[in-house]
Amino acid sequence: MKHRLLLALLLLSLSCLARAADRQQVFDVHVHIWEGEKSVKAYLAQVAAAGLEVTGFGGIHMAVLGKVAETRAKNDELIALSKRYPKMLPIASVHPYEGAAAFAELERLAGLGVRTIKLHPHTQKFDAADERVLALCKRAGELGFVVLMDNANILPGDNPKLFNLALQAPKTHFVFTHLGALEFRFWNILPLARTAEGLMESNFHFDISGTVVLLADSPLKDEFVWTLRNVGIDNLLLGSDFPQMSLQKAVDALSRLGLTEEEIRKIRWDNAERLLLKERPKSVR
Ligand SMILES: [Zn+2]
Repeated sequence: MKHRLLLALLLLSLSCLARAADRQQVFDVHVHIWEGEKSVKAYLAQVAAAGLEVTGFGGIHMAVLGKVAETRAKNDELIALSKRYPKMLPIASVHPYEGAAAFAELERLAGLGVRTIKLHPHTQKFDAADERVLALCKRAGELGFVVLMDNANILPGDNPKLFNLALQAPKTHFVFTHLGALEFRFWNILPLARTAEGLMESNFHFDISGTVVLLADSPLKDEFVWTLRNVGIDNLLLGSDFPQMSLQKAVDALSRLGLTEEEIRKIRWDNAERLLLKERPKSVR
C-alpha cells in the first residue's frame, strides 16, 4: 500500500516536472538574420542575458529584387548557419517578381530541405495582390513550403490582400506576421468566413510579434485576446522580431494577456512544432 502511494507520488511529481518543462519551451519564429553569423550570435547572447532558453527559432532572410545570385548566396548562408546552430530553422526567401529565377530557387531550396520562406511586400517592394505573388505562393505550397508574409499593415489594403491570397492558394500554409498590427480587428472576420461552405481552408496562421508587446498593456488588450481566440489559438505563433525587439519582451507580453496555461503553451511552442518542425507530406509536384 505504502509503495503504491510512493509510486503515485513519484509519477505525479514527474508529470508536474514534464509539464513545467513543456511550459518553458519556446519557438521564436521571427528573427532577422541581417548580418549572418553575427546576427545569430547577437540573438543568442540577448536570449541568454535575459535568462531565457529558446528551444528553436526561425532565422529570416529577405530577397532583394534583381539580385538573384546574392539571394542564392544568402539562402545558402542561412542553411549553413542552421547546420552550425541546430536551433535555427532557415527561413529563406525569393523575390516574387523574379519570374523563372524565383521558381528555380524555390525548387533548389526544396531540394536542400528548406521548407519555410519569408515574403515582405513593403521591404521587398511588391504588391501582395499581383498575380506573380499568387503563382509563387501556389508553387511554394505544392513544394511543401510554409510562407511567412508581413502583415503589419504598413501598406494600403494589406489585410484584404492577404486574406484573398490565402483563399486563392488554399494548399499553401501562410503565417501572416504581426497579426495585422493595429488593424488586427479585421481578422475577426475569420470565424464568420469559416461558416461559408467551401470557402476556407485551414491555411491561415499568424505570428503575434511586435503586436503582442504593444497591446499587452494597452486599452485594446481585451479586444486583442478576443481576436486571438477568434482566429484560433491553434493558428498563432510567437515571435520577437529581433533585432527590433527581444524574445523576452514577447514572452513577457504573452504572459500578461490573461490566457490559460494551455493557450500560452500552444502559442509558445506546440503550434510552431506542428506547423514548422514536423514533416508534412508534400502535395503533387
Ligand atoms: Zn520582421
